[in-house]
Amino acid sequence: MLIDTHCHLDFADFEAERDEIVRRAHDAGVKQMVTISTRVRKLDTLLAITGKYPSVFCSVGTHPNNADEELDIPAEELIRLANAHEKVVAIGEAGLDYFYDTQKPEDQKTGLLRHIEAARETKLPLVIHSRSADEDMAAILTEETGKGAFPFILHCFSAGADLARTGVELGGYISFSGILTFPKSQELRDIAATIPHDRLLVETDAPYLAPKRWRGKRNEPSYVVNTAEVLAETLGLSYAEMAAITTDNAFRCFSKMPRI
Ligand SMILES: [Zn+2]
Ligand SMILES: [Zn+2]
Repeated sequence: MLIDTHCHLDFADFEAERDEIVRRAHDAGVKQMVTISTRVRKLDTLLAITGKYPSVFCSVGTHPNNADEELDIPAEELIRLANAHEKVVAIGEAGLDYFYDTQKPEDQKTGLLRHIEAARETKLPLVIHSRSADEDMAAILTEETGKGAFPFILHCFSAGADLARTGVELGGYISFSGILTFPKSQELRDIAATIPHDRLLVETDAPYLAPKRWRGKRNEPSYVVNTAEVLAETLGLSYAEMAAITTDNAFRCFSKMPRI
């Protein structure tokens, strides 16, 4: 079995066929998935979805590209919501996205620090979105971990080797998406080969970034199989070994998520 540790099942792309998408995931061996929050104020939508599907869990947080919309939400509110709902198993996604310059770096950082505080307090993993921000992210993670450890995931990892190394040294998990499968991603596969096995996760980030086999199509949780295949090949492991490793890691990392 596999777990898709990062998808966005609330997005409009999935509205009409969510039942089939969850069923196709199960049929492909993707037995559980975590649908990731991008706005705290839309948590009710995620809770409605997780309430409908026993195998779907969620997070709570503000995507860095929405940072200015939720600067009024303190860490205490993230903590309260995470503790109030059984299906909330992670904090985020939060982070730094300097690729799109729609949000001020200060606002993104303010949001990120609140999410770190919430992860430290709840002990739920922080789902980190980091794009074109390797140095700032490494500096913040190093400094904040120094104040008190918190579990975290560098999601949809596509950054450089230095950030991967820092993430691993600080106790984090590295999650690979369909980007790993693209022909031009050899450098990323080289980085993946250096990550300790007990820190590897797989995800789709659906509806974005369909892996190679379905390139150009709308992504969905069942497609995480292709990423796990390529990760297995990269590490010289069998698919079954890779599935077992990433699934064990997912349950250790998302410690509040039960095995269904
Ligand atoms: Zn992201
Ligand atoms: Zn995402």
